[in-house]
Amino acid sequence: MNISRLAAAIKESPTLALNEEARVLRQKGEPIVHLGIGEPKNKAPISAILGSTARLNTGEIKYVPTDGLPSLKKAIIRYTEENYGRYVAPENVIVTTGAKQSLYEALFAVVNPQDEVIVLAPYWVSYPDMIRMVYGIPVIVKPEDGSFVPRIEDIKQAISSYTKAIIVNSPNNPSGAVYPEEFIAELVALCESKGIYYISDDIYHKLVFDGKTAPPAWKYTNQDVENSHVIVTNGVAKLYGMTGYRIGWTVGPRRIIEAMTNIQSQITSCPPVVSQSAAEGALTGAQSVVENLRLTIQNNRDVLMQAMRTFTDVITIQPDGTFYALPDFRAYNGNSYELAKFLLRKALVVTVPGVAFGMEGHLRLSFSGTAKELNTGVERMKWALDPNAPNEIYLGDRKLIRDWM
Ligand code: PLP
Repeated sequence: MNISRLAAAIKESPTLALNEEARVLRQKGEPIVHLGIGEPKNKAPISAILGSTARLNTGEIKYVPTDGLPSLKKAIIRYTEENYGRYVAPENVIVTTGAKQSLYEALFAVVNPQDEVIVLAPYWVSYPDMIRMVYGIPVIVKPEDGSFVPRIEDIKQAISSYTKAIIVNSPNNPSGAVYPEEFIAELVALCESKGIYYISDDIYHKLVFDGKTAPPAWKYTNQDVENSHVIVTNGVAKLYGMTGYRIGWTVGPRRIIEAMTNIQSQITSCPPVVSQSAAEGALTGAQSVVENLRLTIQNNRDVLMQAMRTFTDVITIQPDGTFYALPDFRAYNGNSYELAKFLLRKALVVTVPGVAFGMEGHLRLSFSGTAKELNTGVERMKWALDPNAPNEIYLGDRKLIRDWM
């Protein structure tokens, strides 16, 4: 069987195999603790549920404009005003089937074959493959060891005459890092001066802790949205816990939004209208749901950090945002895939290998679940890895003795 060269170049997610193994174990009744999850646990906001049921009750579930329901676009325009202080026109906004589709279409709109797109490590797994899917070349810039923020000097070094765009995700999946203000300011200035598109993935922008904020790219350019190289993607998945509705959006110069709309018209026609009504409900309803989620997650972050501090030789940089931490496990095993497999088989804990995010030797731990899961998960990992931890443990109601050290 022949598949295309492009399809062959797109790798299977390294997390899929482990997730599948975990699913089978759970189905067999094993007490799995899942720290690999990329979504909050909360129920969808009531305003979103009411929005979608009101739409369903009309029975009018049809195609709508490719770039999104005008009323949802209006809500996004207001969101952009309130959260970024930017006034944009409907032509600057496209609604998509998730931030993922937004990012893919934005790349599709600006990248020519062999153009380079800079990706900052640690990075969200999908960026390099999305870039390859538009025949571009991902150029990874890594931070210095022990940091999650690459140096501006290294980014400058990575820029070539082929550089078309850079993707910036802060707060960052997988590290939980919030890039500092000076960093964002310098990067935006660099991109504006060189004509490089600055694609800002703001999907976690309000999930920031301890009174901090994530500096938004638009703050550091004097250009209006129409003339700026800043393109901002966002969505309802993470802030409202509405991952299954699949609604995201992009705000940017109208020429780019128009190109994205043309692309979208040929692949999905429009995002599902029931989901758009739900997203509109979320954006126009009580915003306390976001703050409540943020507080729960901040508390989880504290629980995780307290547990990780007792873990000999694992270095955990405290996350300032998202619901992920990326501890450095190299003292135990430099191969993150092998380590994640070991932890799943021995301790029934699911983690995500850092190699998937360009950070070998680290594991991504999600703290979107419950405090109890976090404490149990860390206790089990310590039992499996740390010779100083007690060598007996209960996994569910089964008592196990560590016999591999
Ligand atoms: N960007 C980042 C950094 C993410 O972590 C995710 C989801 O995990 C997305 C984008 C995708 O968001 P959506 O579910 O809206 O497609």
